[in-house]
Amino acid sequence: TYDDGPHNTSTNKILDVLERYDARATFFVVGSRISEYSSCIVRADKLGCEIANHSYTHPNLTKLSSSEVKSELTKTDNKVKNIIGVKPTLLRTPGGNTNDTVREVCNKPIIYWSIDTLDWKTRNKSKTVNSVMNNVRDGDIILMHDIYSPTKDAALEIIPKLKEKGYQLVTVSELAKYRGYTLTNGTTYSSLR
Ligand code: ZN
Repeated sequence: TYDDGPHNTSTNKILDVLERYDARATFFVVGSRISEYSSCIVRADKLGCEIANHSYTHPNLTKLSSSEVKSELTKTDNKVKNIIGVKPTLLRTPGGNTNDTVREVCNKPIIYWSIDTLDWKTRNKSKTVNSVMNNVRDGDIILMHDIYSPTKDAALEIIPKLKEKGYQLVTVSELAKYRGYTLTNGTTYSSLR
């Protein structure tokens, strides 16, 4: 999974390698970025990737009122729908900050992660690659951020390496389906093993 994009350069490079290795990912996009980079969304969707909701302006949703939370999510849902014809079905809350209000009003399953690459912090290709390859297990949900160039470089290594090890790289919704999970709105998921 890739958060905080889309980004013109790095998202497209990640899509290149996903396409080449017949792999898919879920992109948790920030709504305010969508108009500028809508071609990335169109392309990701065509490649079978999933576009999911990561709010409109990336605030800490736990600091907002319920109507403000709804607005953050609805604006992104509508932007995505305008571009690819369907609304996102999954949510990842910015910073993983979730409270009862968010769970009550979000109307979506909330997807966390089981491998945090800390790519946003290290901005280091090798550390990001190792954080995945040293820890990965079947059913993991990997957190990365497609707006950083070192993350893009790491993804270009990780995707072929995972394929070589026999992993299928799928979207979160596909993972849930293949694992037999029915995802429930307002429930938080960290892995789907
Ligand atoms: Zn984020």
